Formats: sequence, C-alpha cells, structure tokens
Amino acid sequence: MAALNFIKQNVRGMRAYSLAPHRARIKLNQNENPWDAPEEIRTETLRRLEKRLWSRYPHFVAQDLHERLAGFTGWMAEGILSGNGSNELIQALLMVSIEPGKRVLISEPTFALYRQITVVLGGEVISAPLTDNLTYDISLLTKQIQAAAPDVTIICSPNNPTGCVIEQADLESILKVSDGLVVIDEAYHEFSGQTVVPLLRQYSNLVVLRTFSKAMAMAALRVGYLLAAPELVSEIRKAILPYNLNTISQTAAEVAIELYESRVQPLVDTIIKERDLLHSQLARIPGLTPVPSQANFILVRSAIEPRTVFAELLRRDILVRDVSGYPMLKAYFRVSIGKADENELLLSALRDIFK
Ligand code: PMP
Repeated sequence: MAALNFIKQNVRGMRAYSLAPHRARIKLNQNENPWDAPEEIRTETLRRLEKRLWSRYPHFVAQDLHERLAGFTGWMAEGILSGNGSNELIQALLMVSIEPGKRVLISEPTFALYRQITVVLGGEVISAPLTDNLTYDISLLTKQIQAAAPDVTIICSPNNPTGCVIEQADLESILKVSDGLVVIDEAYHEFSGQTVVPLLRQYSNLVVLRTFSKAMAMAALRVGYLLAAPELVSEIRKAILPYNLNTISQTAAEVAIELYESRVQPLVDTIIKERDLLHSQLARIPGLTPVPSQANFILVRSAIEPRTVFAELLRRDILVRDVSGYPMLKAYFRVSIGKADENELLLSALRDIFK
C-alpha cells in the first residue's frame, strides 16, 4: 500500500510489542500482584471519589500524589513526575533525549520497550549482553560507555525477564564514567529490598523509574512515576500530554501510598517468601533450572522447548510467559509468583510435564 511509504523505515522494519490474548484460571504471565489491591485501598479510593465531579479535569500536575511520593521515597516533590504507567515515562524520557544520531545503551535480554521506543525515535541501540549467568556485565557496560558515549543508558533492576539486580557499587562505577543520562527502571524494586534513590542526591544525571503495576497491585489503573533532578523533570514533562493521569488513578495511588505499610508491604513479604520457595522447588524438577531472582517472577531454563511447556501448561489452565524469542533465552520461560496454591498447581503441572 502506497500510504505505507510515509511511515519511517525503521518503524516498518520492527515488530509491535504485543501479548497474545490467552486466558487461564492461573495467570502467571505478566508479573502482576496475585492479590488484588487490598479492600481498604479500594473502598477509601471510592469514598474519596464519591463527590468528585466527572465534568472537571484532573489536577494539571498531580501535586497531592507527588507530595505523598516525596514522603514515601525521600526525594523532593519537584523532582517527581507521574505518568500513565511507567511506560509513558520511559517514552517521554526518550522523546526528549533521543533523535537520529543519538545512542541508547541497554543490557539484553531486558524489557523490550527500551529498544522499541529508541528505534521509533530514530536512535541507535547499543546492546551489552548479560553474562552467561544472566547477570549484569559491569566491565562490558563500562567499556561500552567509554567507547560509545551513549546519550542514555537504561538498566532495569531487578531486570525483566531475568530477575538480576545491579549492585550499588557497580552502578556507581557506571555513573562515574557516564556523561549521559543513566536510567534505572525499578519496576520490581519492592521485591529486592534495594533502591538506588539515595544516589539521586549525588548524581544529577541519574533517573529512576517506578510503577504501581506490580507490588502495588494497581496495573489496571496505569500509574508510574519518575524521580530525577528537578531541572531534568521540567524538560521531560514537555513530552507528556496534559492530564495524562486521570483522577481515579491519582486518588487510588495516593491512598495506596498512605496504606502501603499496613496493607501492601505484607503482600510483598509473602510474595518474596513464595518466590524463594518456588525457586527451590523448581530446582528439584529434572529438566528445569530456575535462575536466581530478586523480583516477583522467575526465569526458568527448560530441557523441553519453551513453546511446548507453554502449551502444556495452558492446557492445564496455567498461563506463563514464553520468552524464548528474547536474545540468549531460546531455552527459557518465565513464571510470575502467584499465591501459594497457584504455585503448588504450577509445580505439580510441571512435574507432570517433565516426568
Ligand atoms: N518496566 C518494566 C521493567 C516492566 O516489566 C514493566 C511492565 N511489564 C514496565 C516498566 C511498565 O509498567 P507500567 O507501564 O505498567 O508502569
């Protein structure tokens, strides 16, 4: 079709980020929280919304939310930007920094969106593969930064889909050699007990991304946030559409933060325990090798083709993620941590498949 000639070549050459619309009773494919947002968070949110006019726009800047996030993270409210999911903030950040001739350094395999948006914007992706153990290769990253001087380096920690983290000392060695922006995607940080937020005070080129979609159990409401120097945030804001975060989501996020310690933290603690238990049980199934994870999912190497394992599990009403299309992961699938009974059912299904 002639109209397609008006689409950028780099866009035409790529595949869309997508997810097959499979459904199953046990859903372990998207790293969501297996519990819903706690009842108190839902009811308090709805109570606050009861009198809110639907006819009026949301706050131009989600100031109330940003102030709560400042208290929650220990970073200043002027250095916080909320978004319609952290995806929107990854996009906004790259929109204001990347154009043809600019370079983005990532370690692959990682979250596919970093590459996707960079390509759409006409930037160049430089890829530093993870080590054979699927951990960050710090010496390679450092070398690439010195050789290619990337405009943006993105590190996902804990990394999706491998679960590895970057240690603070290693990140600092990367920050020390980086003139460009260094972005740490902390979508899963609650499950690792680590954060790089304290380093924001020291490094003005550091950007941290977070989300309410995982530990916070609010994926349906699409809330994410970015933490950086206020001067950087002012620039990134220019790529965001007005009223990007709707009133319902703003309110729910405020309530979730207020009730985090009493209502959400216990769920996170349970998921961490379940993860460690699931990891040790998976390791006992001949043909499966789980990768150590600091997130709410586990990457598993499989002696049977991942495509077949996926189909066999789906037949048993269990949905996992076949990640065999990612670089280095031809033999792998990924499972999100479910509730105890869901993990048990997953294990018995896998024992059956691998017997
Ligand atoms: N970063 C990472 C590493 C992710 O895995 C995801 C979701 N899969 C996101 C960001 C996006 O999350 P959201 O847009 O829901 O905040």
